[in-house]
Amino acid sequence: MSRVHSHPDRRSPLILEVHELGRGAGACQRIDTTVPAPADMGIEVIGVPQDSDIELDLLLQSVSEGVLASGTATVQLHGQCARCLDSIEDEESFDVQELFFYPGNEMDDDESLVVDETIDLEVALRDAVVLELPFTPLCREDCLGLCPECGFNLNEDPEHGHGEKIDPRWSKLADLTGDTPN
Ligand SMILES: [Zn+2]
Ligand SMILES: [Zn+2]
Repeated sequence: MSRVHSHPDRRSPLILEVHELGRGAGACQRIDTTVPAPADMGIEVIGVPQDSDIELDLLLQSVSEGVLASGTATVQLHGQCARCLDSIEDEESFDVQELFFYPGNEMDDDESLVVDETIDLEVALRDAVVLELPFTPLCREDCLGLCPECGFNLNEDPEHGHGEKIDPRWSKLADLTGDTPN
């Protein structure tokens, strides 16, 4: 009998049934699904917005100690560039690998367990993503940052400087008019 996850109100979408996998070592089950991101998945400067789509592409394998889940999670990242403070919108894939032990087979108290024929991916997913997030995220690797004098975003005009006393906005206009071919 197969049960569909039709009760998101009662169960986290990150809890997967492994009942059908059975306990025969070597059995496999492919998980290819999209789930809403849990809350607080990130660090101060960058993270995954709650309820944004997480694409899971996982292989569940029955092993003698439990169920091995491995594959990738593709998440939406929202953050702020550490140099220019511009917002960062990105999509990134993270490797997920977690062994869920059958109760009694775990080595440690904090190991993940198979509970009632289900596995809860939340902790593994959180670790896979959050531990890999950059503490100083950049909008792009060669981000030029802000002008230390006036805070102007140097990515918008790398030539920006305070040598001449012209408002950068005017100097841009000057560039434009100077562009007309002779
Ligand atoms: Zn930047
Ligand atoms: Zn400046």
